[in-house]
Amino acid sequence: MNPNVLPAHCSANAQAPHVTHRIDMTDRATPATPATKTAQAAATQADPRWAMVAARSAAADGSFWYSVQTTGVYCRPSCAARAPRPENVRFHASCADAEAAGFRPCQRCKPRQPTALSHHAGLVTEACRSIESTNNDKAPSLETLAARAGLSASHFHRIFKQATGLTPKAYAAAHRAQRLRDALDESPTASVTDAIYRAGYQSSSRFYEQSAQVLGMTPSRYRAGGTALDIRFAIGHCALGAIAVAQSDRGICAILLGDDADTLVRDLQDRFANANLIGGDAAFETLVAQVVAFVEAPGLGLNLPLDVRGTAFQQRVWQALQAIPAGQTASYAEIAARIGAPTAVRAVAQACAANALAVAIPCHRVVKSDGALSGYRWGVERKRALLDIESLSPAPSDQASASATVEDAA
Ligand SMILES: [Zn+2]
Repeated sequence: MNPNVLPAHCSANAQAPHVTHRIDMTDRATPATPATKTAQAAATQADPRWAMVAARSAAADGSFWYSVQTTGVYCRPSCAARAPRPENVRFHASCADAEAAGFRPCQRCKPRQPTALSHHAGLVTEACRSIESTNNDKAPSLETLAARAGLSASHFHRIFKQATGLTPKAYAAAHRAQRLRDALDESPTASVTDAIYRAGYQSSSRFYEQSAQVLGMTPSRYRAGGTALDIRFAIGHCALGAIAVAQSDRGICAILLGDDADTLVRDLQDRFANANLIGGDAAFETLVAQVVAFVEAPGLGLNLPLDVRGTAFQQRVWQALQAIPAGQTASYAEIAARIGAPTAVRAVAQACAANALAVAIPCHRVVKSDGALSGYRWGVERKRALLDIESLSPAPSDQASASATVEDAA
């Protein structure tokens, strides 16, 4: 927008509509010269309301009106009459403004009458309430909604979309997704399955088919990053370097190893993106000391509840890892076979890499088929160190002693 070509009333419009009306009167009375015509056309075209007039935007109806110098009438933005030339157009904040400036209402769009949109808005609002009150995945059909509104299905579909930006079906899906988010957030200890049913999905398998679209992620992942989650954590030191220990209200949810505290805190933030991370207090230090002792001598076992968050497949892999005794190893292929998915070797390796509970879920006990050490989420040197410790002092029976709170599959 070039301020040099803007007549005063145009730039002043938004702040002071009364200026519009005074100058419009002057404009009508003054014959336009070619120079003022060009300036007025440029001013109109630079005004964002011009685009709405050009598009005959029904959404803009009620927010302003425009008058046409040459015809002496004023219209609502959606008027179907022939498009005016921009140099003849003035904008008005109200019908009264336009009439005070000497214009009369257009016979075609009848700018003084309530807009079709406001009538439609009532029908659409009613339909929205009806969709929202349906507490299962059988939202009223388009035909039902249209019949209630007294419109054809296609007409109703169009006005609904015009008013909400969504089709009735998409609106119902969005509303259900919101109920699910609320259910997941409201009761962080209830199972994901409960939340799915409470949100109105009639089968969880049907929900899982669509979960990526509904939440943008799996429910467990959503919940892991959910805002309702408080996570206490502390960074300590152990024989293997820096260690982060984090605990949710359900148990230890992360044991991370690394070289420095900053990297560990960032990793924690990434894994629990929207959780409230709270620095642990003195009592929490006792718990960290327990975890450190366990990491330095895994054969001792860790007698603390774990909050294991992962997909159904990951949970199966992790349970299989917990069954490998300290001092022993298994290959990725063996783990894949043990969980009944012998071809899923690659997915097993990915599940190992996704493990958030170092040592407690002993992914360090998984090696290549030839016994060589493969990668380790927390560095292959730490893996070697852990296996060395365990081979020196194997525990007679080590299941990491963790009573895992296994979450619903995702
Ligand atoms: Zn009109």
